[in-house]
Amino acid sequence: MKPPPFEYHAPGDLGAALRTLAEVRGKVLAGGQSLIPMLNMRLTAPEYLVDINRVASLGGIDVTEAGVRVGALARHSEVERAGAHPLLTRALKLVAHPVIRNRGTVVGSLVHADPAAELPAVLAVLGGSVRVARWEGHTQVVRDVPAADFFTGPMESAVQPGELAVSAFFPALGFRTGDAFEEVARRHGDYALAGVCAVVTLDEEAYVTAAKVACIGVGPVPVVVDVSEASGHCPVHELDWAEVGRLVQSAVEPEDDIHASAAYRRHLVGVLAERALWKAAREGAAIRGA
Ligand SMILES: Cc1cc2nc3c(=O)[nH]c(=O)nc-3n(C[C@H](O)[C@H](O)[C@H](O)COP(=O)(O)OP(=O)(O)OC[C@H]3O[C@@H](n4cnc5c(N)ncnc54)[C@H](O)[C@@H]3O)c2cc1C
Repeated sequence: MKPPPFEYHAPGDLGAALRTLAEVRGKVLAGGQSLIPMLNMRLTAPEYLVDINRVASLGGIDVTEAGVRVGALARHSEVERAGAHPLLTRALKLVAHPVIRNRGTVVGSLVHADPAAELPAVLAVLGGSVRVARWEGHTQVVRDVPAADFFTGPMESAVQPGELAVSAFFPALGFRTGDAFEEVARRHGDYALAGVCAVVTLDEEAYVTAAKVACIGVGPVPVVVDVSEASGHCPVHELDWAEVGRLVQSAVEPEDDIHASAAYRRHLVGVLAERALWKAAREGAAIRGA
């Protein structure tokens, strides 16, 4: 199918992009890996498209001790190759196929906010943020939206019409911290039926000081569950991770759809949470020196 008609804008710098968005309130076109199929299937019919691909300042990856800032035009494959953040790199390998990752952007995936997408869960479990800009009067107005406020519903984010997400920030993992991402998809590269990413921090005696998961495919937005309290009473090798997995399971409320029943998704979350938490804990202990 072909897309419905739209007026195409391709501004050459950030100021022009923001002014155009403020004026026409169109849809932003980044990698087009979700937007173009949606246009072709006529699931959306914006009057204006604002293509940001010529705005060079939106590219790039900035790595500091505090974390990784990813520009709005940084492609999945570029960020994956940079390998600057272990959990982000791990999650990117699960997103779609290489050809899609060559075009699709990390920030585009966050704004698209598919409940089964991997990257929103990574941002959520790390407590990252998205920088959003708009043109107001004669100037640029910028705000940082924390992950907890960014995902507002299925395929809905805090980015308002006329706004542009300019970058996303993924906080670095601390010392003695391990991470893992486990998911089940029908075929490699498909959206997951359910998935869990986990971050676990240990102390010198291999006791858990912080443990958190974010689950995908089981709610309208990534479901973040803090299991630090349930995991902190004995060394990681003696913990009953299945019990902690059941705790995560009880925090999600999946729904039936054509791909899987709610009961099956709930079952998956328990198993995947146990596996992801154990892997993250083991990594925290073994690789990062507890
Ligand atoms: C076959 C297939 C399989 C896929 N499998 C997966 C998968 O397993 N996991 C997964 O997470 N994704 C998957 N995807 C989706 C895809 O990888 C991402 O959703 C996509 O790459 C999003 O980035 P983009 O740059 O292509 O965004 P676009 O398609 O250009 O835009 C997506 C949406 O975000 C908005 N947007 C994009 N960038 C900005 C910005 N900077 N500011 C404001 N709004 C913006 C657009 O207006 C649009 O509404 C799959 C896609 C396909 C076609």
